[in-house]
Amino acid sequence: MKKPIRKLALGAIERATRVFPLRFLQRAAGQSPISPFYHLVADEPPPHIRPLYSVRTIAQFSADLDFFLGRYSPIDLHQLRKHISHSVPLPPNAMFLSTDDGMREVGEIMAPICRQKGVPLTMFLNPEFLDNQTLFYRHKTSLLIEAASGASASSIAAALQILQKSGIAKEDLRRSLLAVRYPQRALLDELAPILNVDFSTFLSQRRPYLTSDEVSKLVADGVTIGGHSLDHPYYPDISLSQQLDQTIQSVQRVRQRFGIDYGVFAFPFGADDITLPFYDTLFQSGVVELVFAASPLVRPPRKGVLGRFWMEADAQASPSTLVRRSLHAIISGKISSAGWYGRRF
Ligand SMILES: [Zn+2]
Repeated sequence: MKKPIRKLALGAIERATRVFPLRFLQRAAGQSPISPFYHLVADEPPPHIRPLYSVRTIAQFSADLDFFLGRYSPIDLHQLRKHISHSVPLPPNAMFLSTDDGMREVGEIMAPICRQKGVPLTMFLNPEFLDNQTLFYRHKTSLLIEAASGASASSIAAALQILQKSGIAKEDLRRSLLAVRYPQRALLDELAPILNVDFSTFLSQRRPYLTSDEVSKLVADGVTIGGHSLDHPYYPDISLSQQLDQTIQSVQRVRQRFGIDYGVFAFPFGADDITLPFYDTLFQSGVVELVFAASPLVRPPRKGVLGRFWMEADAQASPSTLVRRSLHAIISGKISSAGWYGRRF
């Protein structure tokens, strides 16, 4: 029942806000800059992504950027840092673009299009994925779902049995796999041989993530970078001290590895259930100066915390609709990132 209700709510939001000019909504939401984010751009969604979310095609991404360029002034991370730390004004209708998880397609497709169109880009990276060392547990989930569609009935039954023993018993294997959370992620490694999937081979052959050399080249070309946790846990699934470790260490490792003198961070999944002591300790660390939350923040809990919205949340929606939905969510203040996006990215 959840999905239809959410779809209905989104439809109502769209109808209610369609008549207002975007600038009015933006002023009402108090949101400057607007901060759209993506993961990757590809004409064919790759197998480690396909069951999770839709990706924008090259034509869609180009059209998205043309939309933003027609109505907004793209700014880079350093303009935003100066704005937050020294109140240096932003241009009217500022727009800040970023991408998460360090996907290979960012270097091959997204960054060249951004460069060509003059739109600055910031990448939020997971040090554990960099250089294709390890596979994000949700990407493992995706590969297993893809493999399950061609698996034998006995393999599917064996996989379901393992999940059921761990208390995961959804209607079918796909839903059960999607229900595996970060603390249970070892289950995915256990299921891989049963469904004939080899994560190591996938990492070395497909190379889903950027290498350090590729990131260095992008940084030399003006792309800015930050941390996105070490290995992408859903923060409500881990303790406060683990949340802080994941955050500070990811930014520290990105800073050290690429020799950058600033520290920024974007939450993996969203900022659900994040408490004020988290922000207090984080900013006291001196490692992180700016935090981005992929959720419509009604009242940013403190200076240095900014909201942003996901451009891949609805493959069919126009950029204007996605901006409207995000601004309306901020104005209505009723939707957490989990409620808004689901735990999909
Ligand atoms: Zn992410």
